[in-house]
Amino acid sequence: MYRLIYVSSAVEHFSGQELEDLLKKSRENNSAAGLTGMLLYRDGNFMQCLEGPKDAVCRLELKIKADPRHRGMLTLLQEENAQPEFSGWAMGFKKLDSPTALEVPGYSNFLDLSLTNEQFQVHPSKSLRLLLTFRNAMR
Ligand code: FAD
Repeated sequence: MYRLIYVSSAVEHFSGQELEDLLKKSRENNSAAGLTGMLLYRDGNFMQCLEGPKDAVCRLELKIKADPRHRGMLTLLQEENAQPEFSGWAMGFKKLDSPTALEVPGYSNFLDLSLTNEQFQVHPSKSLRLLLTFRNAMR
């Protein structure tokens, strides 16, 4: 199984309805393609993990890259033969509003970083940790 994590920035902030529409479409498409993952949105920035067969993930990556609603797509992590972490989640979602401290057990400061903070580029494993923190909190 292949895993991709990237960050990007919305061209214009997404409204609640726009996020809902994006998720609905993503969940439909991802279920049909056998893909799973999780999307975080904070202050106009996205972080997304996509998991599944490599060719399907790469096809979707190209489609997402061409989506005019966001820009600056930056790959943080690409893993081959990865253990699936989001099985059953056609696309988990969390909109992060600061402060997150109260919502997340074992809170640490990195949860409040901007999703495009360079910490995630320097230490890509932190991006997976962040996504997993919210997956665990939502279970
Ligand atoms: P349609 O929904 O029919 O769309 C056709 C075209 O219109 C596409 O080029 C699409 O990009 C564009 N489009 C659709 N809605 C709008 C709009 N409101 N404004 C401007 N252009 C629009 N898709 C997934 O399938 N799975 C994902 O996990 C996923 N994650 C995403 C994460 C982010 C951060 C973003 C920005 C987009 C994501 N998308 C995802 C959406 C993806 O970019 C495509 O829009 C979608 O896959 C197209 O679905 P479709 O082929 O069924 O075409």
